[in-house]
Amino acid sequence: ERISDEFKSFLDSGIYRLDGSKVVFVDPVRLLNDSYSRFRISPSSYYSRSFQSTDRRRVVEEVNVPSISKKKRKRKKTPRDLNEREKSAEKRHQQEARSLLLKAHRAFLEAAELQTFLPKLVKCVEFSRGGETEEKNFIELGSCWQAPLYEIGLCFPKSNEGEDSWLANHVGRTVVPLFNNLISHETNDEVEAEFNNSQYILPGRSCFYMSDLRQIRNLIPAKSDQGFNLIVIDPPWENGSARQKAAYPTLPNRYFLYLPVKELAHAEGALVALWMTNREKLHMFVEKDLFPAWGVTNVTLCYWLKNIDSECMPAVNLEDARVIISIPGVHSRKPALGKLLWDHIPGNKPVKCIELFARELMAGWTSWGNEPLHFQDSRYFVEK
Ligand code: SAM
Repeated sequence: ERISDEFKSFLDSGIYRLDGSKVVFVDPVRLLNDSYSRFRISPSSYYSRSFQSTDRRRVVEEVNVPSISKKKRKRKKTPRDLNEREKSAEKRHQQEARSLLLKAHRAFLEAAELQTFLPKLVKCVEFSRGGETEEKNFIELGSCWQAPLYEIGLCFPKSNEGEDSWLANHVGRTVVPLFNNLISHETNDEVEAEFNNSQYILPGRSCFYMSDLRQIRNLIPAKSDQGFNLIVIDPPWENGSARQKAAYPTLPNRYFLYLPVKELAHAEGALVALWMTNREKLHMFVEKDLFPAWGVTNVTLCYWLKNIDSECMPAVNLEDARVIISIPGVHSRKPALGKLLWDHIPGNKPVKCIELFARELMAGWTSWGNEPLHFQDSRYFVEK
């Protein structure tokens, strides 16, 4: 069977360009696998949501159903506190966004080889869900009085480096405090870590700081020319969904005004990518309050169409809009953006990248949040 070059490159990179280059379909599992050499993300644990249904065919249906009608129904009620101008802005936005997303969705459905492949993407052979032990709740652990006492063991792989090298001196196990501590390693391969009978896979040259928002300023680099060139932020917005409440705590919008985005950014500028739900009220807060407080200008909008509902990154100019389509993983898990944003990151390579409110690590990145180790649990991986 002949496959196109685009599809060949998708199998390798996880990115499939549709409709010129404004719409991309991504496989988040393939994007993440870039961070690993000895391990792979287990697709069945990533796409576990698609397995909740007992009927196999539903997997395919879920993939094909356009979300727009559902979304429209949910939106019918305009919040009472919008004034006339805001209402018309909302209407305009909804219409523009809607036609853009419908167009993107059509392009996605028309990509025949991608559609043929989709069921295989979510239907996986190994179903390794559920490790031996309960998944750790880092949010709870980090807020209890024993938090400063918890330690994580990092097991460095044997290296072939010379006797004098840093690595040769550090082979073995290092134990460090788990919370409120910058934990990084310079190994190019994965490092395995152990905490309280659970194993974690740390990608090459990854770095994380697990803490509450109150400690975030500890991440501000000593010199501004050591700042980050790319800052990805996925805030715990309040949105009233019970499912979200069960998954993680949320914060009122005003807290995000104090995120030290300017201080984290490289002196010569940075690209800031902010995830937000597609609500007009939130758009306004971001545009009028949040971005000015952070010093963010030159805004471009990008939609994430996850075929169930859509989220987006903030907007000013819809002309520049890009649509990212993917099959969602568990609640609120976002596709890795590094590769998609790569060409737009300012500064000299190698660039420094950080994710705020992260639940996972990536090779070469710094991850901060109250549970950045969450998806590093070995239950989410298979060994190559
Ligand atoms: N980007 C993540 C992903 O793709 O999996 C999802 C991030 S989720 C929207 C927001 C995260 O912020 C959750 O992990 C939540 O626990 C965390 N969070 C909530 N309140 C926090 C706080 N006060 N300090 C630090 N992190 C917090």
